[in-house]
Amino acid sequence: MDYSGLYVVATPIGNLNDLSPRAVEVLSGVSLIAAEDTRNTGKLLNHLGIKKEMISYHAHNIVERSGKLIERMQNGESVALVSDAGTPAISDPGEELVRICHENGIRVTPVSGPSAVITALSASGMPTGRFTFEGFLSTAHNSRKEHLSSLVDEKRTMVFYEAPHRLLKTLKDMAEYFGDRKVVLARELSKYYEEIITTTLFAAIEKYEQKDPLGEFVVIVGGKPEEEIIPDYDTAEQIYNDALARGLSRTDAVKEASKKTGLRKNDLYNRFANKE
Ligand code: SAM
Repeated sequence: MDYSGLYVVATPIGNLNDLSPRAVEVLSGVSLIAAEDTRNTGKLLNHLGIKKEMISYHAHNIVERSGKLIERMQNGESVALVSDAGTPAISDPGEELVRICHENGIRVTPVSGPSAVITALSASGMPTGRFTFEGFLSTAHNSRKEHLSSLVDEKRTMVFYEAPHRLLKTLKDMAEYFGDRKVVLARELSKYYEEIITTTLFAAIEKYEQKDPLGEFVVIVGGKPEEEIIPDYDTAEQIYNDALARGLSRTDAVKEASKKTGLRKNDLYNRFANKE
C-alpha cells in the first residue's frame, strides 16, 4: 500500500491490545513518525518490532517541526502522528499540524482508536445523547474560574480531564459552581486498577480528602437538572376543561393535562374528575 500525507494514529490509553491492526500497519508503512515523546513511542514500536525514523513533536516545537513535516510530506513522504496515549490532537499535540496540512492540501487520514473521553463516557451511565468535552481546566486562577462559571447553566453532560495531583482541587472548585452534582470518575481505564466510580461532588471530595487519588482520571459531571416544574393547577384545569369540551373522556383529559403540565395523573384526577 502507498502511504501519503498525514496519518493521525490513536494509540492505547493503557491496554496495549487496544492498538488496532490498522494502526500497526500504518506505523509500519509510513516514512516517519512524529511523536509527542520519542522515548514513549519508541517503547511501543519496540513492542511491535517496528523500526522507524521518529521525530519529536510537542507543545514547545510545534511551529518549527510543523514546517519541516509539511515540507517532507510535500516531497512525497508520509507521516504518522502519535501522542503518548490516546488520540492525537485531543488535549494532546496535533491540532496545529492537522490544520496546516489541510491548508496546504495535504491529505489527513484518521486512524481511529482509543480516546479517554469516549471510553469513559461510554461506560459512565451518564446521559450520552449530548455532551461537551471540556478538556483540562486551566491551572491559572482566573481562566479556571471563567471556564467553570461559563458552565454553570450547561445542561449537557460535561467531560473533563484531570491529573491526579489536581483532582481534589478541581472537585472542590466544581462543587463551588455546580453544587452537589452527580459525578462519575473513570479511573485507570483499560488498566489493572480500572474503576468507574459513580458518586456526587461532595462525596468525592470527602473520599479524596481522606486518601490521595492515584492514577489517571476522567471526570464526568452531570448537566444542570431541568428546573423543577412548579405545579400549576389553574393551567392544568384549563387544559382538562378544553379537552372535555373537545369530547375527550375524563380519563383522557386528565392524561393530557398531566402530560402538558408535568403534574401527576392521580392528583389531577382527584382534583378535577372526581369532583364531577
Ligand atoms: N489524547 C488523549 C486521549 O485521546 O484520551 C488524552 C491525553 S491528555 C494529555 C491525558 C488525560 O487523559 C489524563 O490526564 C486523563 O485525564 C485522561 N486519560 C488518559 N488515559 C487515561 C486512562 N487510562 N484512564 C483515565 N483517564 C485517562
